[in-house]
Amino acid sequence: MKEVHRAITDGPRIGLDMIAIPAGSDVDLDLRLEAVSEGVLVTGCVSGETEGQCVRCLEPVSGTASVYLTELFAYPDSATDETTDADEMHRIVDDKIDLEQAIIDAVALDLPHTPLCRDDCQGLCPECGVRLAVAEAGHHHDKIDPRWAGLASKFAEEPESKP
Ligand SMILES: [Zn+2]
Ligand SMILES: [Zn+2]
Repeated sequence: MKEVHRAITDGPRIGLDMIAIPAGSDVDLDLRLEAVSEGVLVTGCVSGETEGQCVRCLEPVSGTASVYLTELFAYPDSATDETTDADEMHRIVDDKIDLEQAIIDAVALDLPHTPLCRDDCQGLCPECGVRLAVAEAGHHHDKIDPRWAGLASKFAEEPESKP
């Protein structure tokens, strides 16, 4: 059995559109590699700091991704190799295991698809786009009284006067 304690500092961006461990950010690996009959079993923790954007108000969101990895990398010509497809089970290729894809997949699964700056984020005002968390209390827009709507639309058309 082999243990791997390593920090990757030059990795790619790992995550989803709205939130990810940025490229070049530290990713800590704390893994065990164990030879089993069908291949090498990799278990352990992968963690890193995430950066993203709140899906409601677009404010920055940061956090920590910490995932527990359990991945079997099958030996070529093992029974597992013969009975599974390449996309459902990792393979040992040229005596190497490619942890990168396994880590990318595991972190992507763990991250929230709709990151929020806080659970009760109120998002943006649908009328003017101001962030409601910083808008004045009871922020709202006066709707035009229906009796005046006709008049307002007349004014709205006025700037299109002919030369
Ligand atoms: Zn938010
Ligand atoms: Zn508004």
